Amino acid sequence: MNILFVTSEAYPLIKTGGLADVSGSLPLALQELGHDVSLLLPAYSTVMDRVDNYEVVGKTRHYEHDIRLLESKLAGSAVRLLLVDCPAAFDRPGNPYVDAAGQPWADNAYRFALFNQVAVDVAMNRLGMDWPVDLVHCNDWQAGLVPPLLSLFASHPASVFTIHNLAYMGLYDKQIFFELGLPAEIWHLAGVEFHDLFSFIKGGLSYADCVNTVSPQYAMEIQTPTFGYGLEGLLQHRADRLSGIMNGIDQQTWDPASDDNLVQNFDRDNLEKKTKNKLDLQKRYDLKKAKKIPLIGFIGRLVEQKGLDMIIDAMPELTELPLQMLFLGSGEKHYEQALLSLAEQYPESVVVVIGYDEELSHQIEAGCDMFLMPSLFEPCGLNQLYSLAYATIPLVTPVGGLVDSVVDHSAQTMQDGSATGFILESLDGPGLVQAIKRALAVYAEPEQWQQLQLNGMKQDFSWQTSAEQYVELYEKAIALNAG
Ligand code: ADP
Repeated sequence: MNILFVTSEAYPLIKTGGLADVSGSLPLALQELGHDVSLLLPAYSTVMDRVDNYEVVGKTRHYEHDIRLLESKLAGSAVRLLLVDCPAAFDRPGNPYVDAAGQPWADNAYRFALFNQVAVDVAMNRLGMDWPVDLVHCNDWQAGLVPPLLSLFASHPASVFTIHNLAYMGLYDKQIFFELGLPAEIWHLAGVEFHDLFSFIKGGLSYADCVNTVSPQYAMEIQTPTFGYGLEGLLQHRADRLSGIMNGIDQQTWDPASDDNLVQNFDRDNLEKKTKNKLDLQKRYDLKKAKKIPLIGFIGRLVEQKGLDMIIDAMPELTELPLQMLFLGSGEKHYEQALLSLAEQYPESVVVVIGYDEELSHQIEAGCDMFLMPSLFEPCGLNQLYSLAYATIPLVTPVGGLVDSVVDHSAQTMQDGSATGFILESLDGPGLVQAIKRALAVYAEPEQWQQLQLNGMKQDFSWQTSAEQYVELYEKAIALNAG
């Protein structure tokens, strides 16, 4: 199968969140299953700094800009990397979506519309690459216009649209839709119109042959008003085309036995070595160096979704408990400030590192005893998967991919060997405190704790398993498109 994978970020070239991890791994796993995959990405300046060799393989023009299509390889793989080179849209520093002040770039609708137009050119084999596409895999709102634009051709490749996070919809004024010269045929209620606004994501949800999310639970949740943001009706309507496929983890990058970011590697046969990573963190961040004090980690974007209000609420009570906490994240300024104040107030137990730090994120996964992820919603979540692999017990809320990947500790689940973590009973400060107290009680029983760690480490979150499910989904989409 010739698969065109359209994404706005891909690790290690550019990353703001889980979408990059998926885009950096799934195409490789598909290629290993024998498919021919091209990954299409905007040529942001950060990406160009990391790509050495490329060839110009096509030229096109949209929105009065000459655009070049560059071809390279995704490092360490046979996956073809196609870059949409349009300096006016993508040659700017920093984050792909927001400026230095954290505000969305004012011209995002135009930048990603242009990206989608080029995706359609490639999908329709119009740029002279002589590579007929069987299936276009579109990811999140930044690729949401591809399925509707393809639908305007009498014959076109099949499409799959993956929702990595429904909260980001790519919503713009109606006027922008017309300013972008987009075809009036797709401006209607069953198209990209959403309460008189222009919605990129609705294009993907309405027109793709199949739609999926990154966990089975989230696929169900988004069909309800609590998680559907007004799109639940459309998603229910398309329920026969909607499914969930759990993300895998990149085992080259996330394996405690070979991870070279760690001061000490370890695996299931020598778990005691994990402690050295904890002592290193305690030393580095001026926490009391003690093997026995549990260290709880948090890594993530500092946004409401990640449960920060709950954490901040619970903090006075948490700091009364015998534990230490280490936070790594960046995001909304008020959360950054609130966490920094807590670190100042409780220097003996709370450390906060504001920023994006890939290396430290590995060290936290390895050095902590527990990992806190109390998200209000979580399409899949990757850190709880990394935690399981690194013998760091996840404490999570009962939502989305978190419930699909973590089994709550109980007498029953310990007995049948399925327990891997702790699930909050309620999504609030008291729920968080209660879950941490339960975890501390088990932590005090080293044998039980080790059993939990080993249960987690044997879970299979390989990309191969997920990639096989994607291939089935692609086949279904191709059959539907043909029929
Ligand atoms: P989301 O996509 O909602 O941000 P995920 O858990 O799916 O959440 O993926 C987040 C990814 O980004 C993980 O790989 C996580 O380790 C990484 N990450 C998030 N914030 C940071 C940070 N401040 N430093 C390093 N890595 C981070």
